[in-house]
Amino acid sequence: MGRVLVIGAGGVGSVAVHKMAMSPDIFSHITLASRTKSKCDAIAESVKARTGVVVETAALDADDIAATTALIQSVKPALVVNLALPYQDLAIMEACLAAGVNYLDTANYEPRDEAKFEYSWQWAYQDRFKDAGLMALLGCGFDPGVTSVFTTYTAKHLLDSIETLDILDCNGGDHGHPFATNFNPEINLREVTAPSRHWENGQWVEGPALAHKQVFDFDQVGEKNMYLMYHEELESLAKFYPEIKRIRFWMTFGDAYLKHLDVLGNVGMLRIDPVMFEGREIIPLQFLKALLPEPASLGPRTKGKTNIGTIATGLKDGAQKTVYINNVCDHEEAYAETGSQAVSYTTGVPAMIGAALMVQGVYSGAGVFNMEQMDPDPFMDMLNVHGLPWKMRDLPAPLDF
Ligand code: NDP
Repeated sequence: MGRVLVIGAGGVGSVAVHKMAMSPDIFSHITLASRTKSKCDAIAESVKARTGVVVETAALDADDIAATTALIQSVKPALVVNLALPYQDLAIMEACLAAGVNYLDTANYEPRDEAKFEYSWQWAYQDRFKDAGLMALLGCGFDPGVTSVFTTYTAKHLLDSIETLDILDCNGGDHGHPFATNFNPEINLREVTAPSRHWENGQWVEGPALAHKQVFDFDQVGEKNMYLMYHEELESLAKFYPEIKRIRFWMTFGDAYLKHLDVLGNVGMLRIDPVMFEGREIIPLQFLKALLPEPASLGPRTKGKTNIGTIATGLKDGAQKTVYINNVCDHEEAYAETGSQAVSYTTGVPAMIGAALMVQGVYSGAGVFNMEQMDPDPFMDMLNVHGLPWKMRDLPAPLDF
């Protein structure tokens, strides 16, 4: 049963579908559905040209539960892979329950009218998925996703106990635009402008957005400023590894990006409440999204690399040890292979791997699961095979910040 229905024809959906088509032994039949069918057709055309595989396409408004249920019932997939926006998560989970099909996504639910994401809404589906004998795998991109797999692998093989964990997300890519976001601008800007939050001694510590800066020398990228941020996997990591004393997430931003962000915030363009403009309501952030380059259009112009990984300090055989696991992904190589840059690639490949493990029955269960609950070994092996090879090394000392 290698039939899959992928929902969402953005950069991430495009990579996932290209990579699925490259494993026809696992994915026997692929359907791609999204709000704008022409985007699905363009992806299907590219997949056909690159791999010879035919991808079926369909128009779908995934906010419409009945329409999504009907599409699932006609496609009859083993799995629905949700690569639309976080706003659609609950509606697609409802449709999966109605149609009796497993579910996977890469980003946790967030309501449209509040810039807030958390797992509680999706964890609330635990009993319904369990009772239906269905599996929902949440947050199977890179971060969240691979970062949780790296942590689980560290806990399983490398350290007897983890004391501190830092997730470092660096995008050293340059797309040549004065300002653009590497994935959906609305979701991205809501995320980076939220207050920072990290886990320390059993509680959340909050701070102002993008106020805590550190310099880090990233392999194959060089020195970059990175900023303490709240990020989705912190919530599931704190839940499944309550013994870790401190869990932090850092992301790199250039000065020009931050300057633009500052100005856009100051003039009100990041607002998500409706404002009246020439007799009609508009949401400034949605208007800004319409002005910014489409993330998918950045592919051909982006050069440089991403470097994302986890640094864990803890005890191994009674001695303190610090382990760094990371992946470096090249924007131009990702584009040459799939027609999308590395931010979409590093998300779409893990989504494909999670989907592969689910349709093959390697990952199975009834209920709602996070990546921390899965065996990391088959996932780590597949990362090496499918374009996201990882490296592991001991650091001489824990991070000193
Ligand atoms: P894009 O905005 O490029 O693509 C989203 C796609 O979803 C678009 O094709 C859009 O259609 C479609 N869509 C939106 N609303 C609906 C709807 N109601 N019904 C059907 N289709 C809809 O985003 P990305 O590809 O960059 O990101 C996709 C997902 O991946 C997001 O949830 C994002 O948060 C997540 N992500 C996760 C990461 C991780 O590491 N875990 C990293 C990066 C992204 P249309 O073209 O018509 O607008």
